[in-house]
Amino acid sequence: MLVGAVLAAFHPSEGVMKPQTTPSRSVASVIPGIRTREGAGFEVRRPFPTDRLDHLDPFLLLVEMGPSDLGPGEARGAPDHPHRGFETVTYLLSGAMVHQDSQGNSGRLGPGDVQWMTAGAGVVHSEMPAPEFLRSGGRMHGFQLWVNLPRRDKMIAPRYQDLPAARIPVVRTPDGVTARVIAGEALGARAAVETRTPILYVHCTLAPGARPALALPDGFSGFAYVFAGECAVGREEQTIRSGEMAILTQDAGSVSLAVPDSAATPAELLLIAGLPIGEPVVRYGPFVMNAEEEIFQAVRDYQNGRMGAIR
Ligand code: MN
Repeated sequence: MLVGAVLAAFHPSEGVMKPQTTPSRSVASVIPGIRTREGAGFEVRRPFPTDRLDHLDPFLLLVEMGPSDLGPGEARGAPDHPHRGFETVTYLLSGAMVHQDSQGNSGRLGPGDVQWMTAGAGVVHSEMPAPEFLRSGGRMHGFQLWVNLPRRDKMIAPRYQDLPAARIPVVRTPDGVTARVIAGEALGARAAVETRTPILYVHCTLAPGARPALALPDGFSGFAYVFAGECAVGREEQTIRSGEMAILTQDAGSVSLAVPDSAATPAELLLIAGLPIGEPVVRYGPFVMNAEEEIFQAVRDYQNGRMGAIR
C-alpha cells in the first residue's frame, strides 16, 4: 500500500495487521475526449473545453497532442499567438518542440520534459516542432494543460519554469506503479515546480495488477485522464478507457486506481487536481480573465503590440 492513503490502523482483536485506507473518491462523471485539430493543423484529443465541459476550476483546458506518427516534413505546431491570465503546462512524451516568445526567451522540449509557462499579463509565443524533428519525422505525443490564475496573479510578469525530465521525480513501487510527479506531492515524492495555486499533476503508468491509492489534498477538485489501456477509477472501480476523463467527487482525500491482473497492457493516465479558485471565468480564445471588460482590454493590448512580438 502507498504512502498518504494509508491510515495504517491496527485491529488488535483480529490479531493481524490490517491496513485501513481512507475511502476513495468516486467518479462523478466521464467526459470523452474529442478528436480535432489545433494550431497549424496538428491532431489532438481534447476532453475540455468541449460542449460537455467548459472548465474544471482551476483547470481551463487539456489537450493530448497525438500520438501521431509523422513522416518527414509533416509535423505542425502553433505559430505566434498570445496568452494572458493563466498558465500553460506542456509535457512532452515523444518528439521535440521549440519555443520562442516576445520577451526573447527560447527553449526546447524533448521526451519527458515539462515547460510550465506563467503567461500572466501576456506573452506572444510560438510552439513549433524542433527543426531536426520536422526533417526526420517520428512520433509526436504530449499534453498541454491550462491552469487558471487567481485575480491577484492575472497581470503578473510572465515566468518560465523549465523542468527537464531529469528534474521530475519518478516513484516506482513493487506492485507495478510508476509515477512521475510533475507538480505537487505523490507517493512521498515532491515536484520541483512552483505553482501559483496548489496543484497536483502526476503521470501514472500502471502495470497489470497495480492498485495504487493516491492522496489528493482536501478541497482539491480533480480528474484522471486515461490515454493508454484502461483503468478502474474510484470507490466503485468504474472502468475508464483511453481518451476518457473521469471527474472525481470532492468527498474524500484519495483516489484508488486499479488495473486488473488480466489486462493485456499497462494503463497510462494523468492524475490532475487543484484547489478551485472560485472566481468568475471569462474566456475568449487565448485570454482568460474575470470580466468581459478585461477581455476587451486584452484584445486591445494585443492588437496595439503591448504583449510584444517575436523578433
Ligand atoms: Mn500557446
